Amino acid sequence: MGEASQRRKSKRALLKDNPFCIFCGGTEPATTTEHCPPRMMFRGKQRPHDLVFSSCEICNLGTKRSDLVASLLGRVYTLASSSGKLISRSKPESRRGV
Ligand SMILES: [Zn+2]
Repeated sequence: MGEASQRRKSKRALLKDNPFCIFCGGTEPATTTEHCPPRMMFRGKQRPHDLVFSSCEICNLGTKRSDLVASLLGRVYTLASSSGKLISRSKPESRRGV
């Protein structure tokens, strides 16, 4: 089974097991899946697989712009040192706060 086919199968199973949107109180039928945090926050879209939730289309699309901003900021700045300086995720642990 190909990767795309596997994703479709996983999506169908999630929507079957969780038929209502978790973002608007569980009253609207879920028709999509929402990745939270969004996949684009992770370099190469490498992220844990279980962070996918059933969602209605309105809730899923409603966070699109916020997801873009959060993803950009998440890639550029990840940690703030105790001195308040922002440091990059790419710096090794031993150099944090330098
Ligand atoms: Zn919803």
